[in-house]
Amino acid sequence: MTLEHDIFGLLIDTVRRFVDERLRPLEAAVEAADSIPSEIVAEMRELGFFGLSIPPDYGGLGLTMSEEVRVVFELGRTTPAFRSVFGTNVGIGSQALVMSGSEAQKAKWLPRIASGEIITSFALTEPEAGSDSASVQTRAAIDGDDYVLTGGKRYITNADKASLFTVMARTGGPGARGVSAFLVPADLPGVTIGQPEKKMGQQGAHVCDVNFDAVRVPKENLLGSEGEGFKIAMRVLDRGRLHISALCVGIAERLIRDCVAYAGERSQFGQNIADFQLIKAMIADSKTETMAARALVLQVADQKDAGEPITMEAAAAKYFASEMVGRVADRAVQIFGGAGYISDYGIERLYRDVRLFRLYEGTSQIQQLIIAAEVMKRGG
Ligand SMILES: Cc1cc2nc3c(=O)[nH]c(=O)nc-3n(C[C@H](O)[C@H](O)[C@H](O)COP(=O)(O)OP(=O)(O)OC[C@H]3O[C@@H](n4cnc5c(N)ncnc54)[C@H](O)[C@@H]3O)c2cc1C
Repeated sequence: MTLEHDIFGLLIDTVRRFVDERLRPLEAAVEAADSIPSEIVAEMRELGFFGLSIPPDYGGLGLTMSEEVRVVFELGRTTPAFRSVFGTNVGIGSQALVMSGSEAQKAKWLPRIASGEIITSFALTEPEAGSDSASVQTRAAIDGDDYVLTGGKRYITNADKASLFTVMARTGGPGARGVSAFLVPADLPGVTIGQPEKKMGQQGAHVCDVNFDAVRVPKENLLGSEGEGFKIAMRVLDRGRLHISALCVGIAERLIRDCVAYAGERSQFGQNIADFQLIKAMIADSKTETMAARALVLQVADQKDAGEPITMEAAAAKYFASEMVGRVADRAVQIFGGAGYISDYGIERLYRDVRLFRLYEGTSQIQQLIIAAEVMKRGG
């Protein structure tokens, strides 16, 4: 751990209190309004949430991965739409810059990302390039001192609020080696943002199309070298997958607590439903799987902090944790009975919210392919 132990403890206490006192009471209102109140966003800025992972030299808290996942466990105890407000700044929107940016690029952008003054987004997916992300068709053609970007991105989280995009675009031939990464300010002429999509869950977090119509991006906005973009994107996603896994664990822990509380209050057949062995079995299965996912996340975070490669490990954590929280949410609906299906109880909302985790930052099938490929490469 880099932060002094007791300072980190203080941060965890603060996050826990913020979640309990400020965020949880607003869950239903955020779902109804499909928007996070601006005073909550301001409080998140004050608390340093936008800079959790950004190095202190650039105004962030500089948490290690093992510290970050512990903070995310706490944030998981409420609707994940709240985390999405700063999730891109902490993760996929900033990490290409942190990992591969030049000193000048970092100095220009990171302090404003860490403070939450600007929002960042990660733009990889396209209408014809989802799981097959190395096939992106957005082009970046060199012209004098600029690259000219043309193409369209799809389902980009926080695009409607973003001031800066990390965009993967093709500068070379087909395949992964032809892709480069760029920092693209949202106010450049030719950048347009679509309307937020209507989604199954996580209301308050928005995804939109982003279009680039002959956008002139200065050469100095290239991240790393030409042809490195796909590799950079995959390193960003390794880290992002671990962060998402921690979120799954936090939500599963919240759901189990809700189940225990409800089962302790609800009576049928003249006894508490918590006394029924079939209810206990569901709680035991959910707890066991959640503990396994928590242990896996913490282990992989330690490996990341030790500088070890985590491509396979992060994919395994994301695969297991996202499938796990889906099962836990499904059991929670079952334990609540009819109430599990009724909005007022909040369980059906979390059931819908967690469905996304098996889809973005690589579907479960893509995680399986990554795990198998890495295991075979390593010989077992
Ligand atoms: C709410 C939301 C937020 C998102 N945020 C972002 C963002 O900020 N930035 C960004 O760049 N993208 C983002 N995405 C995009 C997301 O990462 C993609 O939707 C996801 O990677 C899947 O791509 P696809 O939707 O094109 O599905 P497809 O690739 O079309 O997949 C369809 C099905 O085919 C399966 N499949 C595909 N290939 C294989 C294969 N080789 N073997 C077996 N099965 C396969 C998939 O697993 C899936 O079941 C977001 C998506 C959503 C829904």
